[in-house]
Amino acid sequence: METRYRSVLLFGAPGSGKGTQGKILGTIPNFYHCACGDMFRNLTIDHDLGRIFIEYSSRGELVPDELTIRLWRDNIRYAEQSGRFARERDTLVLDGIPRNPHQAVMLAETLDVKALINLTCPDLSKMIERLQRRALRENRLDDANLDVIKKRLEIYERETKPVLDHYGSALVHTVDSTQSPMFVLRNILDILAQV
Ligand code: ADP
Repeated sequence: METRYRSVLLFGAPGSGKGTQGKILGTIPNFYHCACGDMFRNLTIDHDLGRIFIEYSSRGELVPDELTIRLWRDNIRYAEQSGRFARERDTLVLDGIPRNPHQAVMLAETLDVKALINLTCPDLSKMIERLQRRALRENRLDDANLDVIKKRLEIYERETKPVLDHYGSALVHTVDSTQSPMFVLRNILDILAQV
């Protein structure tokens, strides 16, 4: 059996800052940032999966698990083949995947999860404001509509949060993401230095 990928999961509601932190961590040698949402957004509309992604994400819903995991496996294999990512050398920083307990089960034989960083933001209005701000800046249609944002937050509570129990409290590290990005980063680095 191939060795599993040494992984750290960035976890949190939409707007909690996973992408911001993931991008920074990905610039550190021996860390490879993989954002599931970016993977979908890099598809083109003439790709079947690109159309399916638009259909689900514009409603604020998750893309079906089998399609998501298949695309993720293809992407990571490609990153390995092209030498951008090496499982013996690098730690994967996963952002936005696994997004429900079923995806976690599907990835159990692939990932060696060392830590789950749970970015919490109790201030709902702050989270919504962050999402609406990036809607234009990053051209994210799913961030522009308040009903879609609410739906995504609802799906996060119902489908994604149970992933925390799946991995269990020994792996979960909670970080207050209402702090400024630099302080959130410092907290995350303190955790990563110990796993
Ligand atoms: P955010 O965390 O701000 O909601 P993402 O960029 O991570 O944004 O995800 C955008 C959309 O991409 C999601 O609403 C969903 O439709 C789809 N998506 C991303 N990751 C997954 C996943 N692991 N499983 C299913 N759908 C996903």
